[in-house]
Amino acid sequence: MTFKDLGLSDSLLKAIEKKGYTQPSPIQEKAIPQVLQRKDVLASAQTGTGKTAGFVLPILEILKKETFKRPQVRALVLTPTRELAAQIQQNVKEYSTFTELKSTVIFGGVNQKPQVFTLKQGVDILIATPGRLIDLNNQGFINLKKIEIFVLDEADRMLDMGFVRDIQRIMAILPEKRQNLLFSATFSKEIKKLANGILTNPVMVEATPENTTVEVIKQRVIRMDKPRKTAYTIKMISEGDWQQVLIFTRTKHGANKLTEKLNNKKISAMAIHGNKSQNHRTKALAQFKKGEVRVLVATDIAARGIDIPLLPHVINYEIPNISEDYVHRIGRTGRAGANGVAISLVDNDELAYIRDIEKLTKQTFDKEIIEGYEPPHIDESQIKKPKGNPGQTRGRGSRNPNSKPGNKKHYYQKGSKGNGGKR
Ligand code: AMP
Repeated sequence: MTFKDLGLSDSLLKAIEKKGYTQPSPIQEKAIPQVLQRKDVLASAQTGTGKTAGFVLPILEILKKETFKRPQVRALVLTPTRELAAQIQQNVKEYSTFTELKSTVIFGGVNQKPQVFTLKQGVDILIATPGRLIDLNNQGFINLKKIEIFVLDEADRMLDMGFVRDIQRIMAILPEKRQNLLFSATFSKEIKKLANGILTNPVMVEATPENTTVEVIKQRVIRMDKPRKTAYTIKMISEGDWQQVLIFTRTKHGANKLTEKLNNKKISAMAIHGNKSQNHRTKALAQFKKGEVRVLVATDIAARGIDIPLLPHVINYEIPNISEDYVHRIGRTGRAGANGVAISLVDNDELAYIRDIEKLTKQTFDKEIIEGYEPPHIDESQIKKPKGNPGQTRGRGSRNPNSKPGNKKHYYQKGSKGNGGKR
C-alpha cells in the first residue's frame, strides 16, 4: 500500500516524500480513505502511530480542491495542550508546502495579537486549544461558520483536563452540517459517550488494541527504596551514558526538585509543567530535541503531545495514579518502529498503582530488585491504595485517587478553570 493508493494527489505526495515517509502507517491506511469519503471517523490511536498525518493529509486533500484568495476557516483541529497544537501546526505546514492552503495555530499563555493578526489575513485550517479559541471567538476575531471538518484530537486527555464543557461550548458555535473526526489513545465509556454527541454514523478505526502498550517498547519495572530513586536515576543515566531521557514525575514540585538534583550532578536537565511559562516550555522542548539538554523532566499534562522521534529512554520516576497515563507516558518511546525502553521505579507506596496498570494493560510485569536499592520488606497482601494526598489531583477537575481504574466519574466533574493543580 502506498500513499498514492490511498487517494492523495501529487502536491501532497511530494511533501510526504520530502518528510521521508515511504509507506503509510496502519492508522493512516485505515483513516485516510474514510476521511476522503467524507465519513465521520472515531479513531483509537496513540501518539507515535502517525495519527496526525492520518487526519491532516486527507483534510488537505479535501480542502485543496477549492482554494480562496481570502480563506476562511474550513477545518478546525481542537487539541488539549499548547505543545500538541504547535506540533500539529508544524505538521500541517510541512504537508501543505506544495498547496495554496493556509493554516495557523492559537493557544493561551502568549500574547494574542500576532494570532489575531494572522487570523485576519485568513486561514483555511485552524489548530487551537479550547480556552483561546473560545476567548478569541467571544472577542469576534474568529468566524467558525464555514467549518466543514472538525477534528477533536486526544479526546481522552481533553476529558482528563476538564475540557468537556468547553468542547460543548465550541460544538454549539460550529455549523451543524460538518464532518467530524475524533482521535483518542484510550477508548473508555466516557469517550464513547462524548463521541456519540459529536459524530454521526462514525466509522471506527483502530491502530492498536485498546489500552495495550506498544510492543516494541521494552518495559522494565524496578522495585525501589523511595529515598534511593534519585541516586538510581543518576546512576542509570551516567553509567548508561544516556543522552536523551524523558523522566516523568507526578507533581510539579517533584519535577523541579529532581531537575535541580540532576543539574547538581552535571546532568543537564530542564523541567516542563503547568507552572512554567509557555516560553520556558517551548525552549526546554526545543533544547531537548536538539540534544542540548540531556534530560527533560515532565508532569503528565505538560508532556502530552510531545513528539520526540526515536526517544530511547523514558523513566517513570513516579508511577502515575491514573493508569491510562502510563500508556501515554511509554508511548513517548519506541515510536515509528524504533526500539525504546521505559523504566518504572516503583516504591512500596506505588505498588497499588502498578497493579492497576497491569490490569489496564493486561500484562504482568516481572518486578526487578537491584542490590543496594531494595525497598523495605512488606507483606504484599497488605498493599492498599495509597491514601489521597494533594499531589494526586488533576490540574483541571479532580479525580478521587481511590476510585477504581476505568471509573472516571470524577475526571471532569466541576472542571475548575485554570491550571491550579499539582501537575
Ligand atoms: P504522530 O503519531 O502523528 O505524533 O506521529 C509520530 C511520528 O511518526 C512523527 O514524528 C511523524 O513525523 C512520524 N510519521 C508519521 N507518519 C509516518 C510514516 N508514514 N512513516 C514514517 N514516519 C511517520
